[in-house]
Amino acid sequence: MADTEQLAGPGRPDYRAARFLTSASKLSQCPPDAGWEVAFAGRSNAGKSSAINSLTGNSKLAKTSRTPGRTQLINFFELSASQRLVDLPGYGFAKVPLSVKRAWTRQVENYLAQRRSLRGLVLLMDVRHPLQPFDQQLLAWALEASMPVHILLTKADKLARGPAGNTLLKVRAQLQTWGELVSVQLFSALKHAGREELVAVLDAWLTDPGVLDEDLQE
Ligand code: GDP
Repeated sequence: MADTEQLAGPGRPDYRAARFLTSASKLSQCPPDAGWEVAFAGRSNAGKSSAINSLTGNSKLAKTSRTPGRTQLINFFELSASQRLVDLPGYGFAKVPLSVKRAWTRQVENYLAQRRSLRGLVLLMDVRHPLQPFDQQLLAWALEASMPVHILLTKADKLARGPAGNTLLKVRAQLQTWGELVSVQLFSALKHAGREELVAVLDAWLTDPGVLDEDLQE
């Protein structure tokens, strides 16, 4: 990465230029931990693949409907030489053996705790079933580590405007103690609704110059 990028931050990414970079089943297989990264997490079937595909305008980028219990991988998509989107494995399959659940938890916990290039977490929840127990656990991990979280209430087209708006307000109210560390919006991949709001958040995270390396401050 160029020193000028470290000082000023990189330019705004082009989400439509996203391309698959690599998959990892553990932290040591992830690409070098440098630059800017945003991760997407959510229960299986929350609409994560559809949201990534809608964001990038590429209907084939993130595969939909993964098989439950299959070895689950962290997928990395490159936006530029220093900016990446990360698709974390979905969680919450009722029939997955405990050992698989434990392995998932360890993998994601390690990634969230140790990944220095991670600038924010996008948490996807079906607007009809927000804040399930594991969503709350993931939120707690991230927020307690001061990691910003942006929540997408997905499949917003499944509810009428009134009930969708009420859910938005309710989820916001439940998280208000976290202040600016957490934000919430409605999203529909089907209707292409909410993309601009999501892009504004991602742009801010992926271009934030952040804390300068000590050696650059001298
Ligand atoms: P993932 O398991 O979280 O990656 O979820 P998928 O993106 O595969 O979506 C799960 C199911 O929900 C699929 O049948 C999608 O077609 C559907 N889905 C995803 N997003 C939307 C949406 O915005 N509106 C509606 N109505 N259905 C959606």
